[in-house]
Amino acid sequence: MENDNSFEQNREGKTLRFKAIERKQLLLRPIDVEKLVSEQHPVRAIWVLVDQLDVAAFYSDLGAFEGEAGRPPWDPKVLISLWIYAYKDGISSAREITRRCEYHPAYQWLTGMEVVNYHTLADFRVQHQPALDRLFIEVLGVLSHQGLITLKRVMHDGTKIKAWAADKSFRRQATLESHLKEAQKQVEAMGNPHLEQLSQRVAQARKRALREKKERLEAALKELEQLKATASKTTANEQGEKEKKKEPRASTTDAQARVMLGAKGAYGPAYNIQISTDAEAKIIVGVGVTQCSSDAGELPAAVERIGTNLGQKPEQLVVDAAYPTHEAIAAMADKGIDLIGPLPGRKKPSWDVLQRHGVSREFYPEAFCYDPQSDVYRCPGEKLLRFETEERKPGWVHRRYRARLTDCRSCPFQAQCCPNTKKGRSLVRMEKTAELLAFEAKMQTEEAQKIYKQRAGVAEFPNAWIKEKFGLRHFRLRGTTKVTSEVLWACLTYNICQWIRLCWKPHRLAEP
Ligand code: SF4
Repeated sequence: MENDNSFEQNREGKTLRFKAIERKQLLLRPIDVEKLVSEQHPVRAIWVLVDQLDVAAFYSDLGAFEGEAGRPPWDPKVLISLWIYAYKDGISSAREITRRCEYHPAYQWLTGMEVVNYHTLADFRVQHQPALDRLFIEVLGVLSHQGLITLKRVMHDGTKIKAWAADKSFRRQATLESHLKEAQKQVEAMGNPHLEQLSQRVAQARKRALREKKERLEAALKELEQLKATASKTTANEQGEKEKKKEPRASTTDAQARVMLGAKGAYGPAYNIQISTDAEAKIIVGVGVTQCSSDAGELPAAVERIGTNLGQKPEQLVVDAAYPTHEAIAAMADKGIDLIGPLPGRKKPSWDVLQRHGVSREFYPEAFCYDPQSDVYRCPGEKLLRFETEERKPGWVHRRYRARLTDCRSCPFQAQCCPNTKKGRSLVRMEKTAELLAFEAKMQTEEAQKIYKQRAGVAEFPNAWIKEKFGLRHFRLRGTTKVTSEVLWACLTYNICQWIRLCWKPHRLAEP
């Protein structure tokens, strides 16, 4: 057949020559498995490190012994190394690891050219949560021993990672209950004779899918109960009548996911990941997963995690504006931790109570004059309000002052100032606690501002690495426990990558 490119292949009357490609041939090549990867290849570093660690907890459920029948299982060290290498490569799918075992030299080197079944990999990733926690701590021990962790300065930050659920999977109670009824009917109908005509495999698959759907709906209803309990508490305490009208919804796909505001300003199902990073070498020293969208209130748990992982608390904690609430400042001062972060915003005083009691605008607290010398207030009717009680709240002391009942009863302004009082008009003076004053003074110093400027470079580095390099922009698993496993694998991999970068020295391979 005439070649279309004949005008290119013939030049000056001669025909050009090319390397012949022969695809219909069988080759038998010897493979030196040890030489599949170079001496400096990071997969060797991962294997060397994992081989040195105490991973006994991963072996506890193995029951295959020498001399007994049955197929031997994979060594957990191989599976750990496979997952770490895969996360490093940005792979978080068990099926993809199985595919790579068939052709990728690094995976082949780890498995000795064998292919690991994806079910084995997927189960291994989530079935060893306590052992994985232990492994994370073991690696921190190695990094600490090598001087990469000092806990002198820890930067803490949170990041939202999308849950494996669609925005539209969130349903209210009535919808969930009707879907559950439907699913129950379908499960009961599984004995239907027409299904018996299906192959056993298809029938089993359908049965499993329906059972899982029913379980997910039940889980969503259970979560809804919890959400309602939390919402009713919040409503009563903080948010007032308006919030009562909001009916909570739960996802039918991942019941434990929550709708959160993401970094790009869009709401969606997600989990809030809290990461503490040691500033010395940007090592992650603590990681937690929360269903709470807000970062406020997460610091005490973060400090506890660091303590559990490394046996001591950080000397200094640097955080962004979401964390330094009055409660957090008081809690960190109690623990002796030097907190660095922006000053907490001050809530505008609410005059709702005064309005409800029929107090006129002219008799709101700003109309009363405080005399610091004698610690009394003077009211618009020229009477004194004396100190009565004080209540300590995080960051603030609430001091109550009260006028004498006889003064108010005989006052011409009583109808506007305290229409229904039984004790005499009172008002509350809010004074900052010593801890809050000290925090404010510290944050005005140049040194504290200089430290705070380092925050983003350290705290946001692992977040960005995990999302960009490891591709963990959304979870592959559902539920807080499994999602925590996914995050732990990613953070463990991140720390090992830091160890490879800063400490690992490859050994020369012995010549055969
Ligand atoms: S009602 Fe009592 S507190 Fe109010 S102005 Fe009169 S005396 Fe003062």
